[in-house]
Order: sequence, then C-alpha cells, then structure tokens
Amino acid sequence: MSIQYKSIKNLTSMLQNKEISHKELINETFTLIESKMDLNAFITLNKDAAIEKATLLDSKKNDSSLAGIPIAQKDLFCTKDLRTTCGSNMLSSFIPPYSATVISNLENAGCISVGKTNMDEFAMGSSNETSFYGNVENPWGKNLVPGGSSGGSASAVSSGIVPAATGTDTGGSIRQPASLCGITGLKPTYGRISRWGMIAFASSLDQAGPMARTAEDCAILLNEMCSHDIKDTTSLNEHIPDFTKDIEQPIKGMKIGIVKEFDLSKLDSEVVKIFEESKKHYESLGAEFIEISLPNISLSVPTYYVVAPAECSSNLSRFDGVKFGKRCDDPKNLEDLYIRTRSEGFGDEVKRRILIGSYVLSAGFYDAYYKKAQQVRRLIKNDFDEAFLKVDVLMSPTTRGPAFEAGSKGSDPIQMYLEDLFTIPANLAGLPALSIPNGFVDNKPIGLQLIGNFLEESKLLQFAHNFQKTTDYHLKTPSGENI
Ligand code: GLN
Repeated sequence: MSIQYKSIKNLTSMLQNKEISHKELINETFTLIESKMDLNAFITLNKDAAIEKATLLDSKKNDSSLAGIPIAQKDLFCTKDLRTTCGSNMLSSFIPPYSATVISNLENAGCISVGKTNMDEFAMGSSNETSFYGNVENPWGKNLVPGGSSGGSASAVSSGIVPAATGTDTGGSIRQPASLCGITGLKPTYGRISRWGMIAFASSLDQAGPMARTAEDCAILLNEMCSHDIKDTTSLNEHIPDFTKDIEQPIKGMKIGIVKEFDLSKLDSEVVKIFEESKKHYESLGAEFIEISLPNISLSVPTYYVVAPAECSSNLSRFDGVKFGKRCDDPKNLEDLYIRTRSEGFGDEVKRRILIGSYVLSAGFYDAYYKKAQQVRRLIKNDFDEAFLKVDVLMSPTTRGPAFEAGSKGSDPIQMYLEDLFTIPANLAGLPALSIPNGFVDNKPIGLQLIGNFLEESKLLQFAHNFQKTTDYHLKTPSGENI
C-alpha cells in the first residue's frame, strides 16, 4: 500500500498494526523523495541517519507518540551534525553542533527527520525564489511558486512525500505557502514554541509551527513542538494543553469576526466568491458573524517592513566571516573580510533588508521610523484586544490569490510584500493564526485564514477541524484525485 498522502494518524495506526515496519516506511519515504526531486523541495537529505533510527525503532518496543513518523524540517532549524543552510550561500557548509529545541522535541517524541527543506534565503520572501538553492516547484502546476518562505516544506507535504513538516512564520511564511499549496499551516502564539536554535530573522516576530494536510495532524504535532525553554527568554511559561482534546467540539453559537478594513473588493471575484462560500459553510455549522473594525490594520505592511528589516540587520550582523559559515578567500584586512564575505554570502533580497534595517535604526532616523513603527505596532495589538472581547476568531482569505508563476513578481518587491497583506497583522500582535484549504481558483488551491486570541490555538484548531470534517478541499491532490 502506498504511503503517499497518508496522514500522521494513518501512518501511526499502520505502524502500530504492523502493516508496515519503521524501516519500510522510511525507505518508501525516500523512494517518494527521489521520485520528486524535480520539485527541489529539499536542500539536504538525512537518509542514513533516518534509516538507522527506523531500524532501531523496529528492534525495540516504543510507545513515544510520534514514533517513526517522517517529518521534513525547514532548513532554518539547526540540526546537530546535519547541514543547515537557511537557504543561503553564507551557510552552505554550516554543520550545527546542536539541534534547535523544537527539533529535539519532535525527535524525542519519535519523529524521524528525513531532510531539510528549501526556503527563501534567511526566510525573506514569499515565493521561494530568493533561495540560493534554486526555486521550489508547487506540485499544483509547472512553474508555479509554492509560496514562501517555507516553500519546500509546503511542497513536500502537498505532494504527499511526508505527512508533515516544520515551518516558521515571521510575516506569513507558514500560512501563505500553506494556502498556495493546499495544505494546513499553523503559526502559534509568539513564544509558544522555543526559538532556540532557529536561525533568527526578526526575533520579535519569528515563530515556528506545524504544516500538515489536516488541522488534526497540526494539533498532534503542536503537542510535541511546544515547551517552555529557559534557553529562550521569550519562551512562554504557560500551560500547554492537549491541542487535540477539543477539536471535535461543535462551534455552534461561536462568533467569527470579519474585518471591515480588509477590502476584498480589490481581489479577484473568484477569491471573494470562495471566501463568501466559506462564510456560509461556517454559518451552516452554527457560527455567527460580526463585523469588526481594526482601525490601524492598514498600517501593518509598512510597520512590518520597518520592524522586520531592523531586526534582520541586527541579527544578520553575526555573519561576518569570523564566527559562522562562509569566509571570503584571502582577505586583505578585517574590513575586506567583512565586505567580501557579506557581499558574496548574501543574496539581493537579504542585502536590501539589511540596508533598510540599518537605515531605520541609524541615529538620525531611529525615532522617525523604528520607534514610530513600534508605537503603531502597539496600536494594532490594542485593536485586536478590543476585537477579541466580541468574537472567538477573526476570518479572512489567507492570500490575495492563488499561486503565481515564478518570475512574475520578481521586478517589484512591493508586489511580493503585499502577498502577506492578510497574514502580517497576526505576527505584529503575536497572535496565533492558521490557514486551511477552502477552494480552488483555476484548479489552484487557496486558503482561509483564522486568527485567534493569545494562546487560543485549541480554538483555532477546533474551527479548522469542524470545517475539514464537513468539506474535502484538504483531501484533493494535485493529480486530481481525492485522498
Ligand atoms: N514574506 C514575508 C517576508 O519576506 C514573511 C516572511 C516570513 O514569514 N518569514 O518578510
């Protein structure tokens, strides 16, 4: 029986019922990976270590919750003894001496990391076109981008190679590729999952999260990914619930907010139609809709493009040719070492962000840009606080449209930045948000975003699971069949 498109739940029961051995499952996963190399979803494979772990699992009784489940890890997470590039030439030969907390959490729960997935360089991008390791293909169409920055993870799950993958989301990098590849992706509350060992882009926004076909699988993964970690001072010391516990609860009588300021009239009519149908569907499940005003939300994208580059310019200063990764040949002096290492190691988008970030943090412009952006960020957060006094979740499209062709937005960074119009606000406010498949435009998937209140991932997953129990968008495969 093929393992392609099987969920974590399916694979766990196949393993427990001995329909397949751990080693067979991993071998078949690599057969699938190798048959889909043209997607370019992986930068580095972890075949020998994965087979070794599977063999060990076969040889002894193991009751850890995710024993033997193959997972693809975004190449932004440090993995001990396994190359970690962050999609950059700068780290093309970096082998971390330790694993990120979230990787250790998953591996301790029994997961098998099969490889490191392709991504936009240092997670800056929305199409995977900024990766030093080449574009990733969306399984839904030749030359279509998978979204980004977690494009390799989304493509690997969407093509059914692995049941799930890790992603990170600073402004939308889990939800936007999930939307464009027809899968489910969750960005948890800021601080839910430790950032220790995640290569930093914008530290006050970065958050890891699960990407899988279903909300249920995301809940299963989230249970293992979360932990309080003293090695990350922003890690939350809050109760971690069983995220699967309430997903079956009905949503009858619960309230969904529609954001007045999200102007959908500028979107393709098909996208709007799909969104309206999803509203009707939730209504049929007993949810009530309320219009909500978030007066400062239109400032989200400009605020993000001050805060994120500022933090990135500071975080990426560590790549100087001395401490990590690449060093230029024959530096003449220290300045030459810095300049040539960074000029050769970083791609154009990363350089653009470092320049913007250095500018907005400079002594003369700090108050006008960075400080102002932080103040606006607080206003946006306050708007959400008000909204969640009235509703359980907020709902919007995840993206402005479906996957686009590689190269089609290359010359205008602003068009690319607008890909995250609907996703960025949740990052600025630190709130959990997810994307679930809710329809197709020209046979290309598209997603629905739900944003929840602080720490309310369970409620989001409950809304998502109720939708997926009564629809089949998440079960369609790129080859046109239903799983
Ligand atoms: N596309 C956004 C950016 O380029 C978000 C990226 C992310 O979430 N890592 O900054």
